[in-house]
Amino acid sequence: MTRVFLHTFGCKANQYDSEVLRQAIEAAGAAVVADPADADAAVVNSCTVTHVSESKMRGLVRRLARRNDAVRTVVTGCAAALDGGAIAALPGVVGVVGGADPTLVLEALGLPPDGVDPVLRSFGRGARAWLKIQDGCDEHCTFCATTLARGANRSRSPEEIVREAEALAASHAELVLTGVHIGSYGKDRDDGMTLGRLVERLVAAVPTVRIRLSSVEATEVDDTLADLMIGAPERLAPHLHAPLQSGSDRLLKLMGRHWYTAAKYRDRIEWLAGRLPAFGLGADVMVGFPGETAEDHSATRDLIEALPFTYLHVFPYSARPGAAAPRIGAPVEPETVVGRAAELRALGSEKGSSYRAARSGGRADLVLLRRSGGRFEALTEDYLSAYVPSDRLVPGRFAAALALEPDGTLRADPLNVDPWSASTSRPTVAR
Ligand code: SF4
Repeated sequence: MTRVFLHTFGCKANQYDSEVLRQAIEAAGAAVVADPADADAAVVNSCTVTHVSESKMRGLVRRLARRNDAVRTVVTGCAAALDGGAIAALPGVVGVVGGADPTLVLEALGLPPDGVDPVLRSFGRGARAWLKIQDGCDEHCTFCATTLARGANRSRSPEEIVREAEALAASHAELVLTGVHIGSYGKDRDDGMTLGRLVERLVAAVPTVRIRLSSVEATEVDDTLADLMIGAPERLAPHLHAPLQSGSDRLLKLMGRHWYTAAKYRDRIEWLAGRLPAFGLGADVMVGFPGETAEDHSATRDLIEALPFTYLHVFPYSARPGAAAPRIGAPVEPETVVGRAAELRALGSEKGSSYRAARSGGRADLVLLRRSGGRFEALTEDYLSAYVPSDRLVPGRFAAALALEPDGTLRADPLNVDPWSASTSRPTVAR
């Protein structure tokens, strides 16, 4: 039996693709092993979002070959899709498969490629599963290589997505809808499907799970989605990870993010926040885009201060192969980038701390994540992690009262009530 080591770099879409590969490799009669020392072959699912993710991939591939010079490595994913031959030349590499088509990866591994199940049946052992609903993107943000690596927007059929959700619901309490640009779901179809209509179908078809949206543009949260989030937070989690990138309209234009302005972003978020007593709000924010001025940075900082963010992902700009940004403006001094990133990260964690404090004393609807350090970690509907005292046994999904610990973490004390009721009857949060 072939033993395959599988490693994934990057986003939820990549992690989903790797689970599909795991299922296909096992269905082809091979085994997926956790330790590369036990492997005859390796599949490395690569990422191209920053130069760091690519150099980590190359480092891993070299280590695999050094440890076991007989290992046959297949590199797949986004960096593989943009490879000009450098990856193919790495030691031990026998195949470079752009994207993550399981049939092509099985062929490259020398495993029987037929009978790949298009429906993912399980996603690891946790209470949460990613469900990829679309791939690719029709936009051309000037800093982004993902759109180059993954191609145009391609939506899966709603029927297949519902079938997969039903299969995953058998062992997972929460399904996270993911992709590359999920807000564009259905735009390539002629059946009127949208992300909102798809979520409506899923909520009806799989009543036992909670749906969560992975990264979605603020202005692509339509009224169907908003109504579900406001009216049934136990079915559609009141949490948005809405990429902002910049609060400066000048910079948004240069980034190619033409579908929103700072004001439109703010209006949509404030409208939602005014109707959601508990609301997890995160954003990707880029610092140091070529030509970024102190005024651009202030506009970003001011917008973040004005909106109810509960966490931030702050990224320093990273030049990507094939992306237009390096030709758009002068590079920002590295120490300036470091300073601006530190300032926004501090602001983000400050807002996160005050939100956790405001949630203390309230109720939450949690899914169990993992056991770490002798206690259980769980996730609330509004994307807060909380720990459960170790002497309390809890199911995959449960209701709890939240309490802020002196170290700023949240403790979740399970309640003997069904989680559905927890997400609507908690006290309102002071903004
Ligand atoms: S929306 Fe922009 S950043 Fe996101 S995948 Fe598309 S091109 Fe890249």
